[in-house]
Amino acid sequence: MSKSVLVTGGAGFLGSHLCERLLDEGHRVICLDNFGSGQRANVERLLDDPLFEIIDSDVRMPGALPPVDRIYHLASRASPDDFTDFPVNIALSNTQGTRRLLDHARACDARMVFASTSEVYGDPEVHPQPETYSGNVNIRGVRGCYDESKRFGETLTVAYNREYDLDVRTIRIFNTYGPRMRPNDGRVIPTFVSQALRGDNLTVYGDGQQTRSFCYVDDLIEGLVTLMRFDDLPHSVYNIGRENERTIEQLAHDIIDLTDTESEIVYEPLPEDDPSRRKPDISRAKSELGWEPEIPLREGLNETIAYFDSVLETTRQSAE
Ligand code: NAD
Ligand code: UDP
Repeated sequence: MSKSVLVTGGAGFLGSHLCERLLDEGHRVICLDNFGSGQRANVERLLDDPLFEIIDSDVRMPGALPPVDRIYHLASRASPDDFTDFPVNIALSNTQGTRRLLDHARACDARMVFASTSEVYGDPEVHPQPETYSGNVNIRGVRGCYDESKRFGETLTVAYNREYDLDVRTIRIFNTYGPRMRPNDGRVIPTFVSQALRGDNLTVYGDGQQTRSFCYVDDLIEGLVTLMRFDDLPHSVYNIGRENERTIEQLAHDIIDLTDTESEIVYEPLPEDDPSRRKPDISRAKSELGWEPEIPLREGLNETIAYFDSVLETTRQSAE
C-alpha cells in the first residue's frame, strides 16, 4: 500500500538511492536535506515525479514537518574528514535532530527507522561484531562526535519506544559504497577510485592492515526497506553490511587492478582512533529479516568506477 515517507538526508549518497527506490514502489516521498554534504544532482531527475518533494531544511532546527506514515532519519554527515570540521553539527544532527523526528513520529503515529552505524562499536574488541556487543568508543576522541551521537540517538529511540510505545527501529550500517558518493568525500572508496582514475597515487593510511567490510549500495537499500516493511520484529536493531573483510591495502590493490592505472600506493599517517578491524555479524538480519547481501565487491567496485569515471569526465569537459 502506498505511504507518505519522509527521508531526512535524502539528497545524500544513501538517501538519494532510498528516495528513488521508494518512488519506484509508488510511495509519496518528501526529502528533507540541508545540502551540506548532499548534492542537488543526486535528486535532480526525481523532481519530475509528482510524488517527490524537497524540503531544503536542517533537522537540527525547529519547525513544522509534513504529516507522514514513515520516517527514515539519515541526515548526518558521515565522512571522517567532516568529524574535525563539523563536530557540533554532526553531534546535534544525530541527537537533537533525532529527538525532533521522534517527536514528529509520535505526533503523526509514524513508524521510524534511525540510521545508526558500525561506528557504535568503536575500535571493536569483539570480532565480528554482533548487535549485542556494547562497543569500545573513545567519547572524547576526534570520532566521538559521530560515534557517541549515534549511540545516544539509539538510546533516544529505545527510550521513546519504552515510554511512548513508538514503533522505531535502528539500522547499524557498515561501510557502504557506490555511485553518488562525492569524489572528494574523504571516505576510502571514493578517494581511491578518484585517485586511480586521475593517475594519482593511492593514499593508504598507516600500514594498510586495518580492515573493513564493504557493502554495495543496492544491497544496503534492500536491507533498509526490508527493516521498515515488517509489522512486527523480534528486535529493534539490526546490523546491515557485508561480511567480506578486506585490508585497506588489499582494497587499494583491487582498485588499481580494476582501473588499470599506473598509480602506485603511498603510505600516510593513520588518523587518530582509526578502528583496526570491522566486520558485521549479520546472522540476525539473515534469520529475522531474510536479508543478505548479494553483490560481490568487484562487481560493485566496477559500477562505482564507471560512475566516478563519468563524473570526472564531465568535470574535465567543463574545465576545458
Ligand atoms: P551523505 O553525506 O552522502 O548523506 C548525508 C545527507 O544528510 C546529506 O545529503 C547531507 O546534506 C544531509 N544532512 C547532514 N546533516 C544534515 C542536517 N543537519 N539537516 C539536514 N540534512 C543534513 O552520507 P551517507 O553515506 O549517505 O550517510 C547517510 C546516513 O547513513 C548517515 O546518517 C550516516 O551516518 C549513515 N551511515 C552511512 C554509512 C556509509 O557507509 N555510507 C555507514 C554508516 C552509517
Ligand atoms: N583510508 C585510507 N586512505 C584514504 C581514506 C581512508 O587508507 O585516503 C582508510 C581509513 O584510515 C580507514 C579505512 O580506510 O582505515 C576506511 O575509511 P573510511 O573513512 O572510508 O571509513 P571508516 O573509517 O569510517 O570506516
